[in-house]
Amino acid sequence: MYRIGGIEAGGTKFVCVVANQADEILARSVIPTTTPDETFAAAIRFFRDQGGVEALGLASFGPLILDRRAPNYGALGPTPKPGWAGADLVGTFRDALGAPVALDTDVNGAGLAEAKLGAGRGLDVLAYVTIGTGVGGGLIVRGRPVHGLTHPEMGHVRVRRDPLDGDFPGVCPFHGDCLEGMAAGPSVMRRLGHPLNQATPDHPIWTILGHYIGEFCATLTLVASPERIILGGGVMSNAALFPRVRAACAETLAGYLPHPRLAGDAADYITPPGLGDQAGAIGALLLAEEAFRGE
Ligand code: ZN
Repeated sequence: MYRIGGIEAGGTKFVCVVANQADEILARSVIPTTTPDETFAAAIRFFRDQGGVEALGLASFGPLILDRRAPNYGALGPTPKPGWAGADLVGTFRDALGAPVALDTDVNGAGLAEAKLGAGRGLDVLAYVTIGTGVGGGLIVRGRPVHGLTHPEMGHVRVRRDPLDGDFPGVCPFHGDCLEGMAAGPSVMRRLGHPLNQATPDHPIWTILGHYIGEFCATLTLVASPERIILGGGVMSNAALFPRVRAACAETLAGYLPHPRLAGDAADYITPPGLGDQAGAIGALLLAEEAFRGE
């Protein structure tokens, strides 16, 4: 039995947990994300108060420097969050806790948790996508999140404009009308002036979002051939979106892929998460297990 720590590092809060194994959490502390110095110090204090940890996993907001050959490996990249660009996540915690530290994106952490313990258990290739304040996605292949040039940034792929959406320009500061610009929470706020869950059931926004997200699922299916696509995040907590997303995915694929899981209503192919809001912290603990094993 060994003691591991995990941090789900978000733009508004750091959720810190200590556990004996990934799904056996012993203690938890939620720390507001203020300055890096203050936030790191509070997190380090929590782990020390718990008697320390033998390894730590961090599932963090990004962008992150994940290239192990880079001199600034383990730091935050050019995030717009004031004061956080360049903050050294891995170095700070490794030095303070004297333990190995593993780092990945928040979405890869959550995807890893879903693949090992949630709605993707038993599958070799899983896609996990969160649609909330932004859109992020990870591909988990045989228990490992895919990394290459950098980490996937699938929230920024282009989608075809829905005629119902008029000339809405989208809200992504980089691309305007990419998926995130057209389907994340802020795009709904910009169009309606209120969140999605306050829209009437017959409002066209449901069809519009279903179209964008469903078309994206078809793209993901064609590119990566996942065995399941898990859709999480605040926008997807509106269950009424799922049938629309599945229908739009099927319409885009147009019967081209004759797999039984894609037939009918595809309810077993495009699914909600299994771990709810626990996925991030559990993912961080799974990363800690990898760090402990020296992977
Ligand atoms: Zn974009």
